[in-house]
Amino acid sequence: MTVCIIGGGASGMAAAITAASNGHRVILLERQARVGRKLLATGNGRCNLSNTHADTPGHYHGADPRFSDYALGRPDLNVSATLDWFASLGLLTTAEDSGRLYPYSNMAGSVLDALRFALEGLGVDVRTGCTVTGIRVRDNALTVVAGEESIRADAVILAAGGAAGGKVGGVMDGYRLAKELGHHRTALCPAVVQLRTDPTYPRSLKGVKAQASVRILRGEETLAESTGELLFTEYGVSGPAVFDVSRAVSTGGDGLVCRLDFLPEWDDGETLDWLCRRRDALAGREAQTLLTGLFHTRLGQVICKASGFTAQSAESLTDADLRRIVRSIHRFSLPVVGTCGFDQAQVTAGGLRTDEFDPRTMQSRLVPGFYACGEVLDVDGDCGGYNLQWAWSSGRLAGMLG
Ligand SMILES: Cc1cc2nc3c(=O)[nH]c(=O)nc-3n(C[C@H](O)[C@H](O)[C@H](O)COP(=O)(O)OP(=O)(O)OC[C@H]3O[C@@H](n4cnc5c(N)ncnc54)[C@H](O)[C@@H]3O)c2cc1C
Repeated sequence: MTVCIIGGGASGMAAAITAASNGHRVILLERQARVGRKLLATGNGRCNLSNTHADTPGHYHGADPRFSDYALGRPDLNVSATLDWFASLGLLTTAEDSGRLYPYSNMAGSVLDALRFALEGLGVDVRTGCTVTGIRVRDNALTVVAGEESIRADAVILAAGGAAGGKVGGVMDGYRLAKELGHHRTALCPAVVQLRTDPTYPRSLKGVKAQASVRILRGEETLAESTGELLFTEYGVSGPAVFDVSRAVSTGGDGLVCRLDFLPEWDDGETLDWLCRRRDALAGREAQTLLTGLFHTRLGQVICKASGFTAQSAESLTDADLRRIVRSIHRFSLPVVGTCGFDQAQVTAGGLRTDEFDPRTMQSRLVPGFYACGEVLDVDGDCGGYNLQWAWSSGRLAGMLG
């Protein structure tokens, strides 16, 4: 059987290796000059390739959040089977306490090399710099069109990814190609992305990292919450805890607030006790030194300033003043302007409608012989290796050509 795969990213390479391992003739078409360009950028160059929790429910989203269950739950495609598969390709992995899985080398390049060597070893016909412009169906035969070239195939796997990460290859092609075959997509929005907020405080804290609980609120309703590392930027906030809640901002509409708690493990009373003790110990110093030793110096100063205190002496602060600082520590509110958009986003929320594909095979319910996998489908995972795990599992399932 001749199999044509559109897209040499994570899911396309996984599909190609699987199909070629089963004896099929495989042609892999990639519009960029090299395969796996986005993969090299993942995990800050370390490639967070999976997560030990990826088999457990609740980490994937879309109109049908259960669509991914079959591929991710199959004993030969789940997380441990994926790690075995990588080991069979010569790539060893290591897990962090958080469950995030990385190549043992800590280099995304190792993951790409293992995949590239497997493609070569299996004789996959990899054609780079080759942009697919159309897929035709006539008399049950599929033809993939790439510029002047037409390639007839018994099966076509669409692995063209999503709109996120424009600088490393995110494009709209996959949705357009599937649409020409009669498929539909849901609304698209950026996920796993930095937030833009009122920049007043973030700008003065640019580059400062903190541990915090991050909540996205509409009025008093919590839309999403995460605890972890936060990074202040010129335009707002970034970091893993922010990535986790960014989908709620993309889909949550206007008027949202990002509320930060810089001491989530303490309650208001414990924080007030600490501040009372610091007020006594810091007599003679400025109020803005009160949080020294607790937070990054600049963050401590900004929290005091946001509470209305700077130059006055620490010992002049009343208990009511300290309660205002406690509020700022636990409920520091940044009005949300939006996300940083598809170019900065790691993932696309939304995609090809999953009710038009069979979750047990990834085959189209509309066009026999046409398959889709990875991010082009309406499946997006949490930050932390979940999206690549979906790419490996769905890509390999599509490559089985069931
Ligand atoms: C900066 C960044 C960091 C990330 N870090 C992580 C991480 O650490 N962990 C994690 O789990 N996820 C991460 N992600 C998300 C993850 O990379 C994607 O979800 C995953 O790569 C999707 O795989 P895919 O095969 O569906 O698409 P892609 O990997 O995007 O591959 C699609 C390929 O198709 C090609 N293509 C598109 N159109 C055509 C066409 N018309 N003709 C031919 N080829 C075409 C593209 O050039 C591309 O190479 C990150 C994303 C970004 C942008």
